[in-house]
Amino acid sequence: MNDVSPFKYAFEHYVNGRFIPSANAIDVLNPSTGRPIGAVPDADQQTVAEAVAAARTAQAAWGRKPANERAVVLRAIATKIRENLPHLAQITAVEQGKVLPLAQMEIFITAEYLDYMAEWGRRIEGEVITSDRAGENIFMFRRPMGVVAGILPWNFPFFMIARKLAPALITGNAIIIKPSEETPFGAAAFAKIVSGVDIPAGVVNFVCGRGATTGEALVRDSQIDMVSFTGSSNAGAQIMASAARNITKVNLELGGKAPAIVLDDANIELAIGCLKVAKSLNTGQACNSAERVYVQKGIAAEFTDKLAKAVGSIRSGDPFGGAEVDMGPLINRAAVERIGALVEDARGKGAKVLVGGAAESAREGFHYRPTVLTNVKPDMAIMKREIFGPVLLVETVENLDEGIARANDSEYGLTSSIFTTNISSAMKAIAELRYGETYVNRENFEAIQGFHAGVRRSGIGGADGKHGLYEYTHTQVAYIQS
Ligand code: NAD
Repeated sequence: MNDVSPFKYAFEHYVNGRFIPSANAIDVLNPSTGRPIGAVPDADQQTVAEAVAAARTAQAAWGRKPANERAVVLRAIATKIRENLPHLAQITAVEQGKVLPLAQMEIFITAEYLDYMAEWGRRIEGEVITSDRAGENIFMFRRPMGVVAGILPWNFPFFMIARKLAPALITGNAIIIKPSEETPFGAAAFAKIVSGVDIPAGVVNFVCGRGATTGEALVRDSQIDMVSFTGSSNAGAQIMASAARNITKVNLELGGKAPAIVLDDANIELAIGCLKVAKSLNTGQACNSAERVYVQKGIAAEFTDKLAKAVGSIRSGDPFGGAEVDMGPLINRAAVERIGALVEDARGKGAKVLVGGAAESAREGFHYRPTVLTNVKPDMAIMKREIFGPVLLVETVENLDEGIARANDSEYGLTSSIFTTNISSAMKAIAELRYGETYVNRENFEAIQGFHAGVRRSGIGGADGKHGLYEYTHTQVAYIQS
């Protein structure tokens, strides 16, 4: 921790433009050491209700402002984020455990995201619809949803704030952000930055707490118009059920189990490089991270051998370890135990561990070794459940058809990929993979201007780009008879 940082490892709820000190109830650990770095409050229903009421009041005037004036606020936040990048990256690396260069990239992209969404201030458009009646005009307007609850995961904790806040604000909504209780300190720093820009009180609010308390209170509040949630599919299902009481709109960005198909004609080195990145980047803790590899039999032996060597060469260590460290720890002890149990279950049922397959028990904190498994079978739990860690599963397939069929055999439908030098094979895979995203000959990582959305248990609706922006609006159609 850095003494000159303007930000503290502490959290005060930020409601209606004021910080509210509250008793701490939740310890926060540094995943790299397993030791506490601070404690944060667990907001109760009363605090949540105050935040929602403040947002409701503030939204009316905010929603009437020209969008390009709202854009000025987003740009001001982006500027302050850039000015404080070193401190913010340090907080993110400490609380989440990602390596410092990745944390720096996360902060940089957060500012980029705010600027990108600010550009939409002059581009939000409605429609003029042809009427059946003489003298009638039909206009479709886009209106803000109203008050949005943004409930966040811990894996990209700083960026996720902008992914909710920026499209919500530019379209005229007020927002209440609830960070993950695992990673609240970047959000506390974000709140401090918001408090320093010229934005009406109540438009942006931050409350901290557990999912079962603060999260549930937000979702159940009848004054919330939309819940924008990123997290696990199980929590997404609970949120959807709770939101159903008030028929509140939900936008759900949930888990994944990304398949990667590698055909005989693939550039093997390229495929291995991309899959290695999938496991080292954020220690495999990304919703888009490849988990299942379906390699065609002609190259299977060579590919699997090289893949195991590449993944085995990933260096795990302290997030501040510099050029010597490729990936940090898992988020918590529960993640180490959950992944360990999945690997042991698969091993007991005949899977072969080519590399890794165990926690780094000699090291403090929550480190797990980069791992590759073969001889996996479709009915093993590890082939069905999201791993969310540095573990790759490799199965051999006869041909493209079998690869696509195996890839589609999942409850999840977020990201998928194929490595091939044959354009027809790539196009067939794109047509037949039942996923919200398909990457061809590249690593899985979405762009700000794309549309990140899953199907099946991976979610409802999406984020980013024009389509992500319009998620935060509802339509109003006016029929005007002259
Ligand atoms: P999680 O579901 O445990 O928690 C996410 C957030 O939801 C936290 O803030 C938590 O406090 C809150 N929460 C939990 N239960 C709740 C409830 N019943 N009501 C209201 N709030 C509740 O997820 P996590 O472990 O923080 O994040 C990892 C998961 O997020 C993975 O499954 C990953 O795939 C997913 N994820 C998805 C995307 C995407 O874009 N699809 C992006 C990042 C992460």
